[in-house]
Amino acid sequence: MSTWTLAYEGFDPREERLRETLCALGNGYSATRGAAPETAADDVHYPGTYVAGCYNRLVSQVGGREVENEDLVNVPNWLPLSFRPEDGDWLDLRATEVLDYRQELDLRRGVLHRFLRARDPRGRVTRVTQRRFVHMADPHLAGLETTLAPENWSGRLLIRSALDGRVTNAGVERYRSLDGRHLNPLESGQEGEDAVWLLVETRSSHLCIAEAARTRVLDGGDAVEVRRRTHQEPGFVAQDLVLDAREGRPLTVEKVVALYTSGAREIAEPGTAARQEVARAGRFDELLERHTLAWEQLWRRCRLDLDGDQDVDQTVHLHIFHLLQTLSVHTVDLDAGVPARGLHGEAYRGHVFWDAMFVFPFLNLRFPELTRALLRYRHRRLPEARWAAGQAGYRGAMYPWQSGSDGREETQRLHLNPRSGRWLPDNSHLQRHVNVAIAYDIWQYYQVTADVDFLCEQGAEMLLEIARFWTSAATYNRALDRYEILGVMGPDEYHDGYPDRDEPGLDNNAYTNVMAAWVLCRALEALELLPELRRTELEERLGLQREELDRWREVSHKLRVCFHDGDIISQFEGYDRLQELDWDGLRARHGDIRRLDRVLEAEGDSPNRYKASKQADVLMLFYLLSADELRALLDRLGYLLEPASIPRNVDYYLQRTSHGSTLSGIVHAWVLARSDRPRSWRFFTEALASDVHDVQGGTTAEGIHLGAMAGTLDLAQRCYTGLETREDVLWLSPSLPEELDGIDFDIRYRGHWGVNVRVTQELLRVRVPAGRAAPVKVCVKGEVVEIEPAACGSSPAAATSAAQRLTVARPADAAGHSAGPSAVEGPSDGANQHRRRHRPGLDGRGGRRPAPGARRRDAAHPRGRPLRHARRQGGGRRGRHAADAGRGGLRRGGRADAAAGAGVDRAAGGVAGPP
Ligand code: BGC
Repeated sequence: MSTWTLAYEGFDPREERLRETLCALGNGYSATRGAAPETAADDVHYPGTYVAGCYNRLVSQVGGREVENEDLVNVPNWLPLSFRPEDGDWLDLRATEVLDYRQELDLRRGVLHRFLRARDPRGRVTRVTQRRFVHMADPHLAGLETTLAPENWSGRLLIRSALDGRVTNAGVERYRSLDGRHLNPLESGQEGEDAVWLLVETRSSHLCIAEAARTRVLDGGDAVEVRRRTHQEPGFVAQDLVLDAREGRPLTVEKVVALYTSGAREIAEPGTAARQEVARAGRFDELLERHTLAWEQLWRRCRLDLDGDQDVDQTVHLHIFHLLQTLSVHTVDLDAGVPARGLHGEAYRGHVFWDAMFVFPFLNLRFPELTRALLRYRHRRLPEARWAAGQAGYRGAMYPWQSGSDGREETQRLHLNPRSGRWLPDNSHLQRHVNVAIAYDIWQYYQVTADVDFLCEQGAEMLLEIARFWTSAATYNRALDRYEILGVMGPDEYHDGYPDRDEPGLDNNAYTNVMAAWVLCRALEALELLPELRRTELEERLGLQREELDRWREVSHKLRVCFHDGDIISQFEGYDRLQELDWDGLRARHGDIRRLDRVLEAEGDSPNRYKASKQADVLMLFYLLSADELRALLDRLGYLLEPASIPRNVDYYLQRTSHGSTLSGIVHAWVLARSDRPRSWRFFTEALASDVHDVQGGTTAEGIHLGAMAGTLDLAQRCYTGLETREDVLWLSPSLPEELDGIDFDIRYRGHWGVNVRVTQELLRVRVPAGRAAPVKVCVKGEVVEIEPAACGSSPAAATSAAQRLTVARPADAAGHSAGPSAVEGPSDGANQHRRRHRPGLDGRGGRRPAPGARRRDAAHPRGRPLRHARRQGGGRRGRHAADAGRGGLRRGGRADAAAGAGVDRAAGGVAGPP
């Protein structure tokens, strides 16, 4: 089995829509489902193409009410390509005898292959081989190559190549009663000999969408003269090609397509741009070469090697693949957010939720320019968020739970329970915690990049406005001398109100309140980080006075958190009064009860009555914050969280969660990683299976679960390695599952391209490539060292004593400008070693809490193993060496100051310089 392909044998109509999603091809600008080119939407197939940020709003009548929805638009289908012998029927796999069928997605090259042999009713057997790509280097191009080989017949062959703008948004059964006709046809035509084009417009957002298709036929690589006829009807254009086919002689049909919308900034008009692009484009093979190179480079940057199970590897590749097809370097120049279901289908209408928080960490550490662009999507919608806050009676900025084009709240007000057939009120817009996620993403981005300019230009403004919102949303309870946030929903969407209260919303959701305090702290910290000039500008612009900042401080000390049963953090106030759910009884009656909300509602009941959650809510706190951070934050709020309380909280909520969201598995795998590794691994592998095995029974056919896909990558990248980026330090505290021998990947971190992190059961190693960026501060087991460019730090994976802790080595002649890093492994006090130690400040945070009963590997690791130079390159140009060494080397004063700024306590730690 290759870990780089996703292969399907045989044609299975029941599985077709799932395959279409999993075999979708895209490049961050657009994506096209892996539908068979000869099909149109029906009960089996659903071709769909979606362009990032291309939305349209329609009003429908549902149950006598007007319902307005904004959707990511299914744009014209560029795939249509079919054939028939002159006196036969167009290819239809359900009406013909399929002799062979195989479909294979080549993840490494981004190419979808399809191979089939079909016998028509007159016994003619034709072999069809197809390859397609959506170009990763030229984002407006796509290609489909079809090779047709008549096996036992000769005769006239008709080929139809079309662009179909008659498509609607009809990919989700539950939305069928809503209007899905988003496109108006405008024009179409033929261009030159071999191209056709189509122009349509979205009905209310008035975006023009143009596609042009060039179709050529080749015989043995040479162009074949064919007779062509162009058909046009509103929203549809096709070219029919007539040629003579001969038994055993393959003919190749190349369809090269360009797609533009009027949203593209670099063009005059999309129709002209599309026509020009197909006219200028090279042959399919030439385009494929550049496309393949783009993927090769992406894979180099996104390598995430897990030494272990092949199935795991394969799915990890699949998840990286779909993540990069949804959000890529081509997204950077777009005005687009993170669509929860990728660009792969129509579930959740292509809306943007809080899911970016699960997607950011993998991208932050590889394409920070992309995560910055995604934050700018939010910044452009800051005025709308301010307006929304004002309308709701708050100050600051209140971002919507779901958003699309212009940043207004897009959450539907009614949703359909397919189990009961009832349309029900949807209160999920009360998930104000989306504002926490945005602030968290800003902070993570800053921690990874140290990009103060971004903070100055956009980041701080959003943070401050979100902080302001939280303070204005908090009401003071005099009796308790506490601030409360009332009438919201937490991430657990099954609870949207109290059983005995008419208006929706819950009070004092712990996740919201604690994280609101966290946001206030970060906003205050961001202000400190800003250069004086910018800080003053922002304070003036936002009218921020000292009294307001004092109030932020006060609220950040006094937000209320409820507890019950001793040390269990109550998901919200009053949670303890809810009934226990009869999980076994329900399971016995209904089988799969992940969608507990639907199951209970169909029985005339409601999850609001029970201690039963859809997904992690309280436990999100342990997911986002290290145990030490959370303890410190609760301490600030005046609550004590004993270390032993954490597993108790995890157990408590785990028993009461139905995992109705694929995000739930990610969070649970994370929070169990240190206390119950086998269980964490099970959640991890289940999360890996979410889409590839469609564990939620049909939802993947409507689009991938991007948050869960990216979340699995982040589990490998940050959770199992214990990698954190905070306080200007890269923290590492591995806790590898038994099933993995190692994890190895490269990250971009604070100006360094390709910092290599390798964690095995025995060793932890960080290698910083040659370059001019500042040394990287790494903390292992409570000890901070600096690793210079072209140097390497390593440590036994489960080091216990100072002598075994992180060792940094850097060959004397490779300083700062060798072609590649020199790797040095093994704890040692060798002669080339540059070592410097600080003890971290801020409550003595020493990384994540060691797992109770964590397996100790240090015994297996020989102490004082000699240094081993695993690889060494370059190192010449001695003339520049000294200067570079000075710049890139240890600068005691300067580094120490930076460390102090980051909250590292200089005085407390010893400093060991180079020998
Ligand atoms: C989850 C949300 C998530 C949304 C989009 C829902 O099922 O409950 O947390 O944001 O899906 O992925």
